[in-house]
Amino acid sequence: MVDIKDKVILITGASSGFGRVTAKMCIELGAKVILGARREKNLKDLCDELGSDVSTYLVTDVTSKEQMHALAQHGIKKFGHIDSLVNNAGVMPLSLLEKGRTDEWDQMIDVNIKGVLYGIDSVYSHMLERESGQIINISSVAGKRVMPGSAVYSGTKYAVRAISEGLRVESAGKIQVTCIYPGAFMTELAFTIKDESMMEALMSRGLGAIAQPAERVAESIIYALQQDPGVSVNEIVIRPTAQDA
Ligand code: NDP
Repeated sequence: MVDIKDKVILITGASSGFGRVTAKMCIELGAKVILGARREKNLKDLCDELGSDVSTYLVTDVTSKEQMHALAQHGIKKFGHIDSLVNNAGVMPLSLLEKGRTDEWDQMIDVNIKGVLYGIDSVYSHMLERESGQIINISSVAGKRVMPGSAVYSGTKYAVRAISEGLRVESAGKIQVTCIYPGAFMTELAFTIKDESMMEALMSRGLGAIAQPAERVAESIIYALQQDPGVSVNEIVIRPTAQDA
């Protein structure tokens, strides 16, 4: 395990949930963070709390290649380089295909797939030039199995899994690559579900009651960040013990 003190870590989706908690843990361990998301107030408040010497943010929509690149460049300008990217931003507006909520399908594809790709693109050449770097992509257990209502979300998370594996084999010997598959954890993600019948169906499955604190997933991200450069934890699947699906 390595000390992540002074590591520079770019985190997307840092305005809430896993991203926010991971940013706090990184700072506690002495790292520096570059934070991106759309909600400026959340990012500003978080950076005020963390300290402007060790944190910085830029309002970023990860569906924009230009904005994602601007975030990485903003971080490099502030801290000199980027050691690690946590490609975390995501949305989950679940619904049955028969509902035809195509705008939500587009949104999931744009944020969960294109956003992850633009994140990789924004740091990849920088990391290759430095012959060092780490990319941690956040998939989901929905990236390993499909349930009614998760066809498109799962499609995007299977894609994150494939992209992570492709990145791993292409960058072998140069970059550490990790893909994390969380189950049900307490964040704002469920609020991205706008289809009321889907929300009711999820509630009746009791996932809300068994969901565990976001800190548990952040700890798994930290575990990946703490690996010696010669080692990559390629996959982490983390669920509440009570989650059977
Ligand atoms: P949250 O909703 O709390 O966080 C999602 C983050 O993504 C927010 O910071 C949000 O910021 C950001 N985001 C959404 N759209 C965009 C966008 N277009 N551009 C930039 N940032 C965006 O949920 P989680 O913390 O749970 O989600 C983090 C990741 O974990 C996601 O990829 C999710 O799919 C995955 N995951 C979560 C699970 C859970 O149980 N919580 C389970 C499995 C996977 P803003 O709105 O300010 O832009």
